[in-house]
Amino acid sequence: MKKYGIQKSEKEWKEELSPDEYYVLRQKGTERPFTGEYNLHFEQGDYHCKACKSKLFVSDTKFESGCGWPSFDQAIEGAIEYVRDTSHGMIRTETLCANCGSHLGHVFQDGPQDTTGQRFCVNSVSLKFNQ
Ligand code: FE
Repeated sequence: MKKYGIQKSEKEWKEELSPDEYYVLRQKGTERPFTGEYNLHFEQGDYHCKACKSKLFVSDTKFESGCGWPSFDQAIEGAIEYVRDTSHGMIRTETLCANCGSHLGHVFQDGPQDTTGQRFCVNSVSLKFNQ
C-alpha cells in the first residue's frame, strides 16, 4: 500500500465521511453532473480535499467548462497524484489527493488554450471551499 501523509483505514474513512463522500473519495465514484455544490460556484477562496483538508485548487484557476463538474485549469503544485485509469473502456488520467490518496476526478487536455490547456474535472463532493 502506498504511503501517504495521511494513513487511515477504510473503516476510519467510513466513519468520518458521509456515504456520498465515501463513495466518491474512497470508492472512486462520480457524482451526477450538474448537481454538485461547487459546479457553478465562483467565489474567491481555496478548495481543499474533503477527506484530509489538504489545499488542492485556488479559485483563480476555476472556470466554467460546461461539463457539469467543477473545473480548474491548474492545481496546487504537488497536491495531486496522477494515475492512469483504463476503466469504462477509456484511457484517462485519474486525479487523487497526494496527501491522502482520495479520489478527486480526472484531468483532461481540453482545457482553456489561453492558459494551461488542462481541465481538472473534480467532484464537488471531494472538495471543501474556504474563503
Ligand atoms: Fe486528501
